[in-house]
Amino acid sequence: MQNQRLPEDSVLKELEYRLKDDFTYASGRIIGSMCTIPHPLARKVYTRYLEKNIGDSGLFPAVDKLENETVTLIGELLSNPAASGHIVTGGTEANTLALWAARKLSKKKNGEVVVPASVHCSFDKAADMLGLKIIKVRLNNRFQVDIDAVKDALNPKTIAIVGIAGTTGLGVVDPIDRLSEIASENSIYLHVDAAFGGFVLPFLKELGHSVPDFDFSLSGVRSITVDPHKMGLAPIPSGGILFRDERLRKTLAFKISYLAGGETEQSTLAGTRSGASVIAVWTLMRHFGRDGYRETVKNCLQLTFDLAERIRKIHGLDVVREPTMNVIGIKSRELDIHRIALELRLKKWAISLFPHHIRVVIMPHVKRQHIDRFLQDLQSIVDKIKS
Ligand code: PLP
Repeated sequence: MQNQRLPEDSVLKELEYRLKDDFTYASGRIIGSMCTIPHPLARKVYTRYLEKNIGDSGLFPAVDKLENETVTLIGELLSNPAASGHIVTGGTEANTLALWAARKLSKKKNGEVVVPASVHCSFDKAADMLGLKIIKVRLNNRFQVDIDAVKDALNPKTIAIVGIAGTTGLGVVDPIDRLSEIASENSIYLHVDAAFGGFVLPFLKELGHSVPDFDFSLSGVRSITVDPHKMGLAPIPSGGILFRDERLRKTLAFKISYLAGGETEQSTLAGTRSGASVIAVWTLMRHFGRDGYRETVKNCLQLTFDLAERIRKIHGLDVVREPTMNVIGIKSRELDIHRIALELRLKKWAISLFPHHIRVVIMPHVKRQHIDRFLQDLQSIVDKIKS
């Protein structure tokens, strides 16, 4: 750091210059991310209440109450207003907390966690941290976890099963009802990763789509990850972990005695944590209501179906499967999908690449004109590769 102070203006100018190489959501070029532009109202309250530290809940009892209320609101969406949990840094922390709770409850050493092969890498991180072994089981031809493979993987060391409601790669929902039965029969902890799907599926259902049960309505489900900073339009960091009940959440509770607000209990990884995130999520849920989120999901889905249809019309390309959420996998039998991804990136499209497909996520910042431009570039890349 330099010795002297610099005028605010000149630092801001420098900052603007330094950040100009970043992608922006507003450009419509980010079509491979599950994040989006936070809603303006969320931005407003987030900056207004930046100083709130919900880790010290004695100082901020009102935000503490808002967090409980927010968890109840999300719990209502997931068939359980009695759910207990937190607004955390994201899906990674939420999934880690779930495995941590499962490990504590099982009291087993060197436990194993049975997950679909399509699981998010946060489970690998969590298992590494917690000394657990991840057992990845195969998918069926609909890209859902294979139920027989799950049964085969169970053994006395198994401490948890994970199901996904909206996979990272394709937006697929696992047969959570079957996983719930297996978990209940074997008294094993079942965690559902609905980091993305949690703010999509309940509204898809209201829009008349056929949505399988995936939430606390299934008695075997102990916890759910659901991230407001994905389809909830909340600012980063806003993840969510919901446990079926207070008792489960309390397995992670630590008493913290030194805080300015007096002794408190924390059951998150982070100590100091953003009260502004909680306030932003609460505000958005109040402002949007079900109607607002349903409308958002409807718009994203319309564009998604439209895009899927137009991709199929490009000779040589296809979609991996009919999208059920606003996530599309683009594949090709005859062309090298990695080459296509590289060319798209050279044209400044922020897509994401999976081993056998390109993933596109139609978040609320992606508009029809962006899709039109993307398809033009995609067509020209395919033409170039073929020629
Ligand atoms: N779970 C799923 C299904 C995800 O798709 C993601 C991220 O995309 C995560 C968890 C991790 O979320 P985060 O990046 O907020 O930690």
